Amino acid sequence: MKFNKVLENIQTYEAGKPIELVVREFGIAAKDVVKLASNENPIGTNPAIAKVIRSNADIAHLYPDDSMFELKAALSRKFNVQDNNIIIGAGSDQVIEFISRALLDENASVLMSAVTFAMYEIYAKQMGAKILRTASYTHKYDEFMEAYRMHRPKIIYLCTPNNPTGDATSKEEVLKIIDAVDSDTLVVVDGAYMEYAAAKDPQYAITPNDLLKYENVIYLGTFSKAHGLGGMRVGYGIAQAELIKELHKMRPPFNISTLSLAVAIEACKDNSFVEESIALHQEQIKRYEAFAEEQGFEYIESYTNFITYMFDETMDATKIADALLKRGVIIRNLASYGLNAMRITIGTVKQNDVFFKHFLEVIA
Ligand SMILES: *Cc1c(COP(=O)(O)O)cnc(C)c1O
Repeated sequence: MKFNKVLENIQTYEAGKPIELVVREFGIAAKDVVKLASNENPIGTNPAIAKVIRSNADIAHLYPDDSMFELKAALSRKFNVQDNNIIIGAGSDQVIEFISRALLDENASVLMSAVTFAMYEIYAKQMGAKILRTASYTHKYDEFMEAYRMHRPKIIYLCTPNNPTGDATSKEEVLKIIDAVDSDTLVVVDGAYMEYAAAKDPQYAITPNDLLKYENVIYLGTFSKAHGLGGMRVGYGIAQAELIKELHKMRPPFNISTLSLAVAIEACKDNSFVEESIALHQEQIKRYEAFAEEQGFEYIESYTNFITYMFDETMDATKIADALLKRGVIIRNLASYGLNAMRITIGTVKQNDVFFKHFLEVIA
């Protein structure tokens, strides 16, 4: 069968390895597997969420509210925007897909940093668009401007904090790039980890409202990371109403399940779980920084819920990642991004203990 030509140079997204795989392949009991690979919240989610799931047990036969009235109302209050500024996706991933389909074709290009979230490229390639990358994995104004002036990309992705590196771009720097770009280019500010950056240093805090005066900017957020709801698949895009209206033409009906809507609404009600998660995280990430310093390798200062360890030629991230996997410790090898590096989601105290122990044994 002949498939669409664009598929020829698309690589399937490599998701974090599931616990079940390690159980199956290495015969390790699920309870002994430590998964620090997908930037999930190690303490789970707000206990109130489980209650909401139980109390919605009898509505499976009903289609969800496709207007998503309540969730939009909750997000409007949370971010001080109007409901027509919001589009909800099955994860912010799906909003990236809507954006790509609404704007790109084979004549368009998309600009992003050297190492950033893999889905920007995959969705752009599905539309046949060209991928442009700056030289640095950090978001540098001069590099973005040079590529922008030369190629006039249709979309610029600014992922701050950036996945999989963990660094962030200041609000000042982001606004400088936005101000230098004209309205034919959409700037996407992906704030999947913004809660962590904002808690660490206010210079890095960007809210949807900061960007709403620009007709060509969209802010992306998600319930998957700080809120601990990755399995529920809810994310959002916030932008001027005209842009949101166009993106809605790409949205399939009922893209968010009834249960997912209910838990996301619940998650908006109370921020104490997020704060508790961030407090644990800030404690525990210090251990990862100290560990790298003790062991004598580099790390990237993190504004996210993960840390990226960078190795020189004396250490091989792929070998270490494989050896850790056999011991039931799943982390993210960044070889596929062209880096001799690994990304580790900060876990609970106990999970981190297990990681350090196995890492030391593996490198010994
Ligand atoms: C996790 C992540 C997302 C989206 O996650 P969803 O689960 O689809 O909401 C988007 N951008 C970045 C940079 C991420 O790391």
